[in-house]
Amino acid sequence: MAIDTDKIVHAVMHGSRIREEKGIIPLFGVYLSMIPVQYYNRISFGFEKKMGNDGNAEKLLVAAGQECGYATFQGIRSSREWDEVVKPMIEHIEDQINCFVSIAIAFGWGDLAVQELVPNEKLVIRASDSYEAKGYVDAYGKADAGKCYMLRGVAAAFMDLVYGGEYPDGCFQYTAVETFCQAKGDPHCEFVARKASR
Ligand SMILES: [Zn+2]
Repeated sequence: MAIDTDKIVHAVMHGSRIREEKGIIPLFGVYLSMIPVQYYNRISFGFEKKMGNDGNAEKLLVAAGQECGYATFQGIRSSREWDEVVKPMIEHIEDQINCFVSIAIAFGWGDLAVQELVPNEKLVIRASDSYEAKGYVDAYGKADAGKCYMLRGVAAAFMDLVYGGEYPDGCFQYTAVETFCQAKGDPHCEFVARKASR
């Protein structure tokens, strides 16, 4: 069965209407919340500026995105909703990646698409409307390097989850770079995840 992105997006959108009294959204086995992108970008890029743009903030923000993506999507693929909605579409282990991407789209993380997947080796994801790239340009103007730290970590996390070995020991088995970024003036953002060299 092909992966039905619309069906997955609809399931997430429908479920996300349920809010606990504090605004927390219990969905697909995890707890989510609404965060305005301007707020997130301000914290994230403000942190980078305060750290002095020496690359350390970038490393921390990418690692945070990767660890968050790893734990969040492990929760998602262990959920009842995943078993009911997503699992019947999965024929091969690789299909999980497309399902993760569909859920990330529904979360509002961007218009993501898998460009290339070499099992155990390489994942290429493209985004045409990254909120990090847009947010950076709006606040600081054109960047000289990729700025989509969260999505970069998440691309590597998807490979960690599928090929990194048993949870929770598989995180950071893969690492991603951002080869194109709209913040630099490229037509889209592109993330390439490969096995981390150790
Ligand atoms: Zn980007």
